Amino acid sequence: MNCPKCNSSSHKKNGIVGGRQRYKCSDCGYNYTVELKSTAFSASVKRQALQLYLEGLGFRSIGRFLGVSHVSVQKWIKKFGQGLEDLKSENEISVVEMDEMHTYIGIKKWHC
Ligand SMILES: [Zn+2]
Repeated sequence: MNCPKCNSSSHKKNGIVGGRQRYKCSDCGYNYTVELKSTAFSASVKRQALQLYLEGLGFRSIGRFLGVSHVSVQKWIKKFGQGLEDLKSENEISVVEMDEMHTYIGIKKWHC
């Protein structure tokens, strides 16, 4: 990753912000962030881990099964858990929206 400002490839790691690696350009001092890529494990492995977790397996068992460290598994599940929480609240909203939609469609039909 080169500096987006001066295109220099020399940089120093400058902490992690919001899941992104922050770099500081050594030449112009510009701070820029790069999305942290999970090069080690693909999304499908993570999905498998979640499935196994939902099957009732522990972090260590999942780790052994998938050949990854249970610490990684724990991190993924935790992240998924947060995602699921978000999903839950989103679902609640969409249910309300659907009900309103239903009412709207009902009214429209009535008038036609
Ligand atoms: Zn620069």
